[in-house]
Amino acid sequence: MDVRDTLYINGQWVASTGEGVLEVVDSTTEEVLATIPNGSVDDVDRAVKAASEAFPAWAAKSRDERVALVTKIGEHLAMRMEKIGELISHEVGMPMGLSVPVQAGLPVGAFTDLAQHVAEFTWEEEIGNSLVIREPIGVVGAITPWNYPLYQIALKVAPALVTGCTVVLKPSEVAPLNAFELAEVIDEVGLPAGVFNLVTGVGPIVGEAIAAHPLVDAVSFTGSTRAGKRVMQVGAETVKRVNLELGGKSANIILEDADIATAVGTGVFACFLNSGQTCSALTRMIVPRSKLAEVEEVAAAAAAGFPAGDPFGEGVMVGPLVSAVQRDRVRGFIQTGIDEGAKLLIGGPDAPEGLEKGFFIQPTVFSEVTADMTIAREEIFGPVLSIIPVDSEEEAIAVANDSPYGLAGSVWSGDPAHAEDVARQIRTGQVDINGGPFNVSAPFGGYKQSGNGRERGKFGLDEFLETKSLQR
Ligand code: NDP
Repeated sequence: MDVRDTLYINGQWVASTGEGVLEVVDSTTEEVLATIPNGSVDDVDRAVKAASEAFPAWAAKSRDERVALVTKIGEHLAMRMEKIGELISHEVGMPMGLSVPVQAGLPVGAFTDLAQHVAEFTWEEEIGNSLVIREPIGVVGAITPWNYPLYQIALKVAPALVTGCTVVLKPSEVAPLNAFELAEVIDEVGLPAGVFNLVTGVGPIVGEAIAAHPLVDAVSFTGSTRAGKRVMQVGAETVKRVNLELGGKSANIILEDADIATAVGTGVFACFLNSGQTCSALTRMIVPRSKLAEVEEVAAAAAAGFPAGDPFGEGVMVGPLVSAVQRDRVRGFIQTGIDEGAKLLIGGPDAPEGLEKGFFIQPTVFSEVTADMTIAREEIFGPVLSIIPVDSEEEAIAVANDSPYGLAGSVWSGDPAHAEDVARQIRTGQVDINGGPFNVSAPFGGYKQSGNGRERGKFGLDEFLETKSLQR
């Protein structure tokens, strides 16, 4: 078992003043993998003061110098990719074959690709007699979730550092070990003391202390809509900037003229990736009623191809859920789907055969789901797909938009221009057209209650900048 008994504050590994420790549990074996400090309000205060003191000198460095250091962080993370992928497979349950490129590879890219985005960004512009300049906002509090733990961290820490901000990070208590790897790397590459600080602990204590601290200028939060609302309320007291990347219930609209086999097959995996624990998962498949029988057949066959299994097993694509809490929650939603009258095509609330230990769930597909059912409305965060039949394209668009969320989506049509026209009518931050691939540089974020910021690429720099006008 790994014992992490220090926090990274002001360039030093120091003891926490918090009481007790937090246990990190292996999602497959249910055994305790590690313990971490249960940080305190006092730890946050020390970290924020260190970040505040480090800010002027860090902001005064040239952008090139900061870009070079941030790129080096990515290069050093790359040397640990296998280890980080493995750690996250234990913590979160994503199969190793995916975890190394996704959970470890994407964060590496978030650090190493920044030079290009910094070069593309407009740092100064003339407007009439004004010179408009962009300056770092100051001390950034980063609060992150467990599902893509290091990537969510990297999407905040890398752009914050490059713009000249200093950072206090509170990672998820459920999957925090990768954050310790990052702190070690940052120590290795020699970032000045106080520029990056790590405080582990629980959201209501460490997270709220960050959101409340008067010396924190901006909070960048990724997580549930529930916790995001709380962070916004707490941050309002000091009128700090609060950027939120929250949950989703994304729609996959398959139109009459789409290639059903490809659209449905791709859509099933887009729902099941990371055991459905993806904020942008396409969990509502909206299909023409006339095609329902064909859709059901393809969906059930595709889902049968992704049985849950040991994330370290050969060829496994769907592992366990992250925790017992999450497993029980998802099972509850599956039972609710059955109780409310949805048609269960494959899966169900019981543990998959032979996988009673570990937080496993059967990948599940429901059909004949109506837009008012619980499973069509709530973010389940598990491998549960709802197929919703509709009678027209207008109804498909209306159902897609009938959600408090607005994070992602997808449209399939034999006519790409028509698919694009439909995509423009969907009120979400991203829409994939005919399986358009994931783009790490495209802005990502939500409409409505899915949040209010944009991360990634050059758009991800904005979150950490103030704007100043000089009149001449
Ligand atoms: P949570 O909201 O439970 O936790 C996210 C982070 O917030 C954790 O670090 C958590 O601490 C902390 N937190 C919890 N309560 C508070 C509080 N009162 N004040 C301050 N911080 C708090 O989300 P999960 O970790 O369960 O992640 C899943 C959610 O994240 C899903 O809803 C998902 O959709 C969303 N998400 C959104 C993404 C996006 O980009 N839009 C990307 C990935 C996930 P603790 O360690 O104690 O849990």
